[in-house]
Amino acid sequence: MNLALMNLCSIYIHAHVENCTTCHGEDLIVTPFAQILASLRSVRNNLLSLTNVPASNKSRRPAQSSSGRAGNAGGVQLAQGDEAYTRLATDTIEELDWCLDQLDTIQTHRSVSDMASLKFKRMLNKELSHFSESSRSGNQISEYICSTFLDKQQEFDLPSLRVEENTEHVTAPISQPYRSRSPRGPPMSQISGVKRPLSHTNSFTGERLPTFGVETPNENELGTLLGELDMWGIEIFKIGELSCNRPLTCVAYTIFQSRELLTSLMIPPKTFLNFMTTLEDHYVKDNPFHNSLHAADVTQSTNVLLNTPALEGVFTPLEVGGALFAACIHDVDHPGLTNQFLVNSSSELALMYNDESVLENHHLAVAFKLLQNQGCDIFCNMQKKQRQTLRKMVIDIVLSTDMSKHMSLLADLKTMVETKKVAGSGVLLLDNYTDRIQVLENLVHCADLSNPTKPLSLYKRWVALLMEEFFLQGDKERESGMDISPMCDRHNATIEKSQVGFIDYIVHPLWETWADLVHPDAQDILDTLEENRDYYQSMIPPSPPPSAADDMPQDEKIRFQVTLEESDQENLAELEECDESESRADAGSTTTTGTTATSAAGSGSAGGGKPSGSQNQAQHGGM
Ligand SMILES: [Zn+2]
Repeated sequence: MNLALMNLCSIYIHAHVENCTTCHGEDLIVTPFAQILASLRSVRNNLLSLTNVPASNKSRRPAQSSSGRAGNAGGVQLAQGDEAYTRLATDTIEELDWCLDQLDTIQTHRSVSDMASLKFKRMLNKELSHFSESSRSGNQISEYICSTFLDKQQEFDLPSLRVEENTEHVTAPISQPYRSRSPRGPPMSQISGVKRPLSHTNSFTGERLPTFGVETPNENELGTLLGELDMWGIEIFKIGELSCNRPLTCVAYTIFQSRELLTSLMIPPKTFLNFMTTLEDHYVKDNPFHNSLHAADVTQSTNVLLNTPALEGVFTPLEVGGALFAACIHDVDHPGLTNQFLVNSSSELALMYNDESVLENHHLAVAFKLLQNQGCDIFCNMQKKQRQTLRKMVIDIVLSTDMSKHMSLLADLKTMVETKKVAGSGVLLLDNYTDRIQVLENLVHCADLSNPTKPLSLYKRWVALLMEEFFLQGDKERESGMDISPMCDRHNATIEKSQVGFIDYIVHPLWETWADLVHPDAQDILDTLEENRDYYQSMIPPSPPPSAADDMPQDEKIRFQVTLEESDQENLAELEECDESESRADAGSTTTTGTTATSAAGSGSAGGGKPSGSQNQAQHGGM
């Protein structure tokens, strides 16, 4: 079954093995903060049953509809001395002890958000170590995912999944480090384009502005396609052609107009077009993927996601304008090379931004610099306070498009879903900046990772373009004697399998969580994603028999290394225990599922895991 397969692949489901998870009816809660919250609610409910104290009317805590594992959901009055009474009392104490343990071990310097993202990284890590052992291509894909979507600088020193190097294989020194400009380029303080100086496009001299913001002989046809800007999966490539290669300008202009943002943010239409055409000209046309068509696509996808009913009326025009503006600028002056490449080759950009979110910082700097061009400051009529807020939002959103922030974003989103507050009308309740910007960051991140959720014909085109961009980087790496980055070697690519891995480990967990947040608005998108995943799965060329990996010479076997903080060593040991018991079960060599469940639950309760209540085991056995 399609969905069951996806669920198996989903990282969350595996949470119950790692840290035997709080089970509330059908829902598994995996984020630490939500677990503690749910646990305490369940303790409270149990106390009501045990003590027969009437619940206060003023209580802020809603009775859990599906109560915790130790729960007494029916609220049946129990008599002291009953067997059920004693069992509930014992379970409650156990539950409370678990909460206290959790709170005890929270390090004051580690936020709830860090805890969740560490846990998610660990889970993904475990998944990928299995995947990478399955085959060479699996290893390459794991390496790609690790190097792209996990943040190495955080508390979690990343797994380097590498084939142990042969003695013959000597890594050549980087002979010609990549330079975006000549070494004696302009002074550091000057923001300049990677391939061309920043300039200003003189767009419109006449009085009349074109209806869709671009001069084109195909205005009518373009207008028809732009009429569908509120729909998922529009003909964006066609829009690129009909707009004479100005898709970003016409998409942004039409969206800002239809949302009346030009009016509410007091943006003069001509200024808007001056800026947009200038911005679009600073997207590098030679990039197969990271050009202005991708920016137009992400902007349009952001527009659709902002319309989702669960978010109706949640965001102010300033926030909506900020999110759309961020989408427009989010890849400007992209050199078609990854952050990793820029860092590894000691590029000027990496030097400028100290290796941290190099590209994203550059996109922001270029865009805000372009606003300073004459006649380009679209925010000129705003009050200072508004401008500051907008600038902060845009910076936060674009920095979060750095794919290495993916896990932290996802972990925060999952925590939000598991503790989400919904207003009476059914829309989300987001009453502070952190929550609001978090949703907007994830929204634009989803839009940036939306290719696999689009109709298959579009998705396939995007994949071909992205792979070509990766291969061009690989060519450059080969030429200069650098190691070729994972997925960038055109002579050794596994496109179909990598898409399946990319969906299973990154895209599907993200979209599944987004779909939970806005349930049921994103169901169609999730369905398309799953169909597309099955398509690429069916296109994977037949693989060599599973024994092939075993036949590899010992020194070529894949090694999986994890380095953790000292404080995490204990958890790691526990995790490995889980791992072993799991793989034993996978291999079918020894144990029954029951044994696995017990050992996983046992090791869970030794460390950060939940106590192994009866419902947990039942839940596990059902998997
Ligand atoms: Zn992008």
